[in-house]
Amino acid sequence: MLVTPDTDRRNRRRAFGAAGFLAAAAGIAGWFIPAVWLLLAACPFVYWLLRRRCVRRKAVQSRPFPAAWEQTLRSRVRFYDALPDRGKERFRQMVQVFLDEVRITAVGTEIDDAVRVLVAASAVILVFGFDDWEYRRLREVLIYPKSFVKDYWAEGRTGENLLGLAGVEQLAGCVALSKPDLLAGFDNPARPDQVGVHEFAHVLEDEAAYQGLPPEVPAGAVRRWVRFVARELARPRANRAYINEYAYKNGHEFFAVMAEYFFKSPEVVREKDPELYGMLRRMFHQDPAALFRRAAGGRPVQHAG
Ligand SMILES: [Zn+2]
Repeated sequence: MLVTPDTDRRNRRRAFGAAGFLAAAAGIAGWFIPAVWLLLAACPFVYWLLRRRCVRRKAVQSRPFPAAWEQTLRSRVRFYDALPDRGKERFRQMVQVFLDEVRITAVGTEIDDAVRVLVAASAVILVFGFDDWEYRRLREVLIYPKSFVKDYWAEGRTGENLLGLAGVEQLAGCVALSKPDLLAGFDNPARPDQVGVHEFAHVLEDEAAYQGLPPEVPAGAVRRWVRFVARELARPRANRAYINEYAYKNGHEFFAVMAEYFFKSPEVVREKDPELYGMLRRMFHQDPAALFRRAAGGRPVQHAG
């Protein structure tokens, strides 16, 4: 996702190669059909077309990070606060790139920079373990003033909460989030749920089906996960009573709910369910329980659960 000197070099080489190939092809073909020489004028455009995203990202990620955004991350995003300095820097750059490329739109409400930063943080947390992977198709996040179940999507469907509707809102590169639930996910440590992470976990799953798994995720880990979830959904939920029953609606919801728990209260999952924690650790290529423990100086940390 981020531009490194290495990816920048590769991108420049690719753009130069494509523009050079076009120039050579047009140069040769022009001896037979002179009008083709006009294509030479398109070579700089081809170069620019292939370079523009990389160049823009480089500029965006090297901008100064606003102090208010940093304050939001430090005070409200436990994951960010636990990262070492180099990790924090990478996280900030990923937030900058995300907010530059994904539109955050308020629908019937107002949003400030804190909301934008928390949306980006939700998305970044999930893919932080992957070096070169991103939400390619995501274009817009819609922010609504209230919970969907009560107010928009499913009147009368009592007993279900917002989390269950995530899949419904993922239309054409777009995700919808409820503002109060997004904020509560970060500000209420007593609850293991985190709507932003839940919604982007659905996006991640869709993206993986579209563009393939991140290279850091072993295919065997995913096969094992799929077998595990099929077994888990087929047995009485009482085996894992600490997990919200909504997770048992289907395999997609199980993944999204476990992603929330894994990143918000990983100590609970690791303590109650080391096998499940290990599978999530391999799939996300991250170990948040160890991260939080290191940040606490090795002392047991207070957590939700
Ligand atoms: Zn869901």
